[in-house]
Amino acid sequence: MRTIAIIGASLAGLRSAQALRQQGFDGRLVVIGDEIHLPYDRPPLSKDFLLGKVEMVPLADQEDLDALDAEWRLGTQATGLLSTQEIALSDGSTIEADGVVIATGGIPRTISNTHVLRTLDDAVKLRDALAGAQHLGVIGAGFIGAEIASSARALGKEVTVVEALPTPLTRVLGAEMGAACGQLHGDHGSTLITGINVDSVNVDGVINLADGRKVDADVVVAGIGTRPATDWLAGGPVEVANGVVCDAGGVTNVKNIVAVGDVVNCAGHRAEHWTSATEQAQVATRNLLAGETVATHTNGGYVWSDQYGVRIQFIGRATDDVRVEDGSIEDRKFVATYRDGENEEDVVGIVAMSNARLFTRLRRNLKQAG
Ligand SMILES: Cc1cc2nc3c(=O)[nH]c(=O)nc-3n(C[C@H](O)[C@H](O)[C@H](O)COP(=O)(O)OP(=O)(O)OC[C@H]3O[C@@H](n4cnc5c(N)ncnc54)[C@H](O)[C@@H]3O)c2cc1C
Repeated sequence: MRTIAIIGASLAGLRSAQALRQQGFDGRLVVIGDEIHLPYDRPPLSKDFLLGKVEMVPLADQEDLDALDAEWRLGTQATGLLSTQEIALSDGSTIEADGVVIATGGIPRTISNTHVLRTLDDAVKLRDALAGAQHLGVIGAGFIGAEIASSARALGKEVTVVEALPTPLTRVLGAEMGAACGQLHGDHGSTLITGINVDSVNVDGVINLADGRKVDADVVVAGIGTRPATDWLAGGPVEVANGVVCDAGGVTNVKNIVAVGDVVNCAGHRAEHWTSATEQAQVATRNLLAGETVATHTNGGYVWSDQYGVRIQFIGRATDDVRVEDGSIEDRKFVATYRDGENEEDVVGIVAMSNARLFTRLRRNLKQAG
């Protein structure tokens, strides 16, 4: 391969560029990103960035970037795949490449008159808005919504979180552990309203709930998930269905095109987590250079989230059979396992609050875990 183009200049794109060089690719490497920034880390945006403790956190320093010897086409959007080897760009130019890595991530779902938090620019707007706000409304009690709520409480704001499901995070952690996470809000003075949809949000920030109740927020942020950034692939050669459809090694229906990170739909599943994006890059680029799937992803979908001074960690999959192995939910310090059978080896997932040491030990024994 002489030229590889990476579309998306964030975590998965950068890690793919690094992995390609580590694996000996010495051809032309072009990285196309529609943000104007070099790759920066998103997890701090909902945490220390909102608290004013950090500014943009780069994912690589200048020396590492120089060593990559890549062409960075920032502030430039890929607008289409004209063929399996030609990419159209928003500046009217095209790039020919023998190999393509799709790393375009996700686009936040939104509601009128609310903030979202995906990019550095979003974070700057939200931080500025919070500075002048008394009462933050958060729609969605998933990881990002909960982290924003936690940061706003730390800033002394009144916080109300509205969640459509009866329990937060049920789809990821199951109802029991989702409820445990939901309790963190009340512990720290945030109000959590569950099991109700939001009808609309007024320009002044008032949230109108479906049952007629109103939440008197003055700034509102929606943390209601993302959709994969695949619009630019419409009508092209790559199969798209709730993400770029890939095999277990990140290879698309076109052999010289792989996909990595939040944009991927692998076996019907989108793993929208930091560690998955990093690990997928290693595997998918190996397959790209090999011209076939010689390696598959082994990451078990690890995710961490920092809320109200508590670190939540999860890997694997949740089942109804969840057992606290150490500590207690009441203390907000425990490790629990999810089982799909009666034996030790039937553990299929692990969740922890503020017990990283035991979580890490159990994680090593988990089947399929990365
Ligand atoms: C606020 C926040 C906090 C988070 N906290 C955690 C955490 O605590 N723990 C955890 O495990 N995960 C966390 N995550 C998730 C993690 O950051 C993501 O999984 C990771 O960023 C995915 O990387 P990616 O490169 O696949 O996608 P992205 O980071 O979304 O990057 C995709 C890039 O592609 C660009 N792009 C899109 N379309 C085009 C196009 N057509 N042409 C050119 N460029 C394009 C986008 O602008 C973007 O820069 C957090 C995410 C956010 C937003």
